[in-house]
Amino acid sequence: GQLDTLDLVVLAVLLVGSVAYFTKGSYWAVAKDPYASSTTAVNGAAKAAATRDILEKMEATGKNCVVFYGSQTGTAEDYASRLAKEGAQRFGLKTMVADLEDYDYENLDRFPSDKVVFFVLATYGEGEPTDNAVEFYQFITGDDVAFESGEADRPLAALKYVTFGLGNNTYEHYNAMVRNVDAALTKMGATRVGDAGEGDDGAGTMEEDFLAWKEPMWAALADSLGLQEREAKYEPVFSVTEDEALTPADETVYLGEPTHAHLQGRPKGPYSAHNPFIAPIVESRELFTVKGRNCLHLEVSIAGSNLSYQTGDHIAVWPTNAGAEVDRFLQVFGLADKRDAVIRVKGLDVTAKVPIPTPTTYDAAARYYMEIAAPVSRQFVATLAAFAPDEATRAEMVRLGADKDYFHDKLSTHCYTIAQALQSLTPEPFTTVPFSLLIEGINKIQPRYYSISSSSLVQKDTISITAVVESLRLPGASHLVKGVTTNYLLALKQKQNGDPAPDPHGLTYALSGPRNRYDGIHLPVHVRHSNFKLPSDPSRPIIMVGPGTGVAPFRGFIQERAALAARGDKVGPTVLFFGCRNRTEDFVYQDEWKTYQEQLGDNLRIITAFSREGPSKVYVQHRLHEHASMVSDLLKQKAVFYVCGDAANMAREVNLVLGRILAEQRNLPADRGEELVKHMRSNGSYQEDVW
Ligand code: FAD
Repeated sequence: GQLDTLDLVVLAVLLVGSVAYFTKGSYWAVAKDPYASSTTAVNGAAKAAATRDILEKMEATGKNCVVFYGSQTGTAEDYASRLAKEGAQRFGLKTMVADLEDYDYENLDRFPSDKVVFFVLATYGEGEPTDNAVEFYQFITGDDVAFESGEADRPLAALKYVTFGLGNNTYEHYNAMVRNVDAALTKMGATRVGDAGEGDDGAGTMEEDFLAWKEPMWAALADSLGLQEREAKYEPVFSVTEDEALTPADETVYLGEPTHAHLQGRPKGPYSAHNPFIAPIVESRELFTVKGRNCLHLEVSIAGSNLSYQTGDHIAVWPTNAGAEVDRFLQVFGLADKRDAVIRVKGLDVTAKVPIPTPTTYDAAARYYMEIAAPVSRQFVATLAAFAPDEATRAEMVRLGADKDYFHDKLSTHCYTIAQALQSLTPEPFTTVPFSLLIEGINKIQPRYYSISSSSLVQKDTISITAVVESLRLPGASHLVKGVTTNYLLALKQKQNGDPAPDPHGLTYALSGPRNRYDGIHLPVHVRHSNFKLPSDPSRPIIMVGPGTGVAPFRGFIQERAALAARGDKVGPTVLFFGCRNRTEDFVYQDEWKTYQEQLGDNLRIITAFSREGPSKVYVQHRLHEHASMVSDLLKQKAVFYVCGDAANMAREVNLVLGRILAEQRNLPADRGEELVKHMRSNGSYQEDVW
């Protein structure tokens, strides 16, 4: 319906409290792909667009607030975008979002005191910076950090900054990034505005932690910079125009291709996180022997790509959304009838980066470029309320946006995506939502990582993946949550194996990819190097704890040690603790272990824990404790101890049990046992690959 005056008042009031949703991402194609045509560099800012000098960039573009992000999976980047947009709309700040790796930091000491810098920093793995924050982190926390002024004592005395960290309390170094950066900045004289916020993914409260942190932060910032809060109203970050002169058949239109070279049908290396290799799947099979649960083994060829991997690395898979969810999304936003219309997306501000390739179609954007199946966020529902199809729905959405518990009961517990959530509120489509707002409020689709389950010594050009298919009935949910990537992989496997019903659960994936380029059967991937590595001396013993898919990298480790033994190298004791439900359903690779046993003899020990076979549940950590003296002896012989799999419970339990084992076996007080494990972590003899 049309808005009347009262509606507009309601809408404006609502927006003041709930503004959200901001530009994301790196220039989709500009920075990463020199051939792309989607540049937003207008009005003479070309020089500033190329600079690595943040002060120059802000000067040239008239900004007084930069929001840097260190992001691995896109959440920190999303929060950075949201903060930038909120700062602009509520407080009139001239904001920009920036990727930490795009700038240098030697001149932070010249950062003017009437401007402010935000750092939104995720902690990755073992307290490490995200890939894009490595250089910044080394610089800012380095012992001999040198700024341009040469001032050594309090070089950052003029700098005002805001920080929020994204972490996971189930990891040893909770929010280490933000804590260390905050400490380093303070030490150098900078002034933090507001609290150093910390969001906890482990407790599942990331979004609420963020929402709770930012209000007092804005108040403190308004105070510090003398800002006036004003009535916020939605201003699009992008212009999205339908181009009737183009059809999807036109060769300039992106139909899901990840880069310009891919669009031209001439992908070329180097392949990386910005440019996937379209890899043939050479083999795919099911590892479970039970109906209704799936675990996939895939062999992906990287021959001819110039990609390489080392045993223990990760492979990233670039997913495609399920057709059923694409249809739902387009239907909910009234785009179903024009799904193949060609759209051009441009940043309305020089610093606004277009996160999806353009020109593209609504269909391709939803299918290949946007994370449309992620859990619905409260702030986004609040923002969309202004565009509800009727007054009752709008009022309901305002309430959902404002009341955290109500939102939780009504939407979160059902595990709805944004489209499912809106569908649950009204059958009417939301036809007036600007597409810019959807681009702003929904993340770029993210590659998912898998621990490579093969040895590079044994098969240097073929990478194995071991992935359990996510199909979860979460408590209270009215439907099954189907993991985006793993169900796509399942569909690929079924097609490859000539399954009569290649699409699991009617999800209907576009398996042949944009312009049929993934036909026969291909998957976009890249490789990420890790520190999870076998000892260089194979005679050193190893102890591996990997229940479920946590066994993935250890299949690679064992494959490698078996090959070394077969060629006559001296290989030390190789012990795997593996756990699953029972030996007849989900004991993956049990036949293979027999082959490796022949090569490694008594040096290979597989110790199993079947949680559903006996009267009480037995897990790997129980088995570990039963074998305390063996574990302790092997550690005395310089064994390396590895843990892979579930971060939330298993990895933490194993860490505790190992501390206990060390204390008991060596007659030490309990806290000494824990310290020994910490010590092992720092010297690399306790390694984790957990998620
Ligand atoms: P997604 O769609 O990403 O969903 C993942 C989870 O998010 C769901 O299970 C659910 O809990 C939640 N979720 C999704 N949608 C909703 C919703 N609408 N509402 C509420 N909750 C929702 N996995 C393996 O199987 N094998 C491996 O070897 C492996 N190695 C890994 C190594 C690393 C370094 C990392 C970081 C992860 C690894 N993973 C591995 C996990 C893997 O990356 C994926 O997270 C996993 O396969 C799920 O991906 P998906 O796209 O299928 O599910």
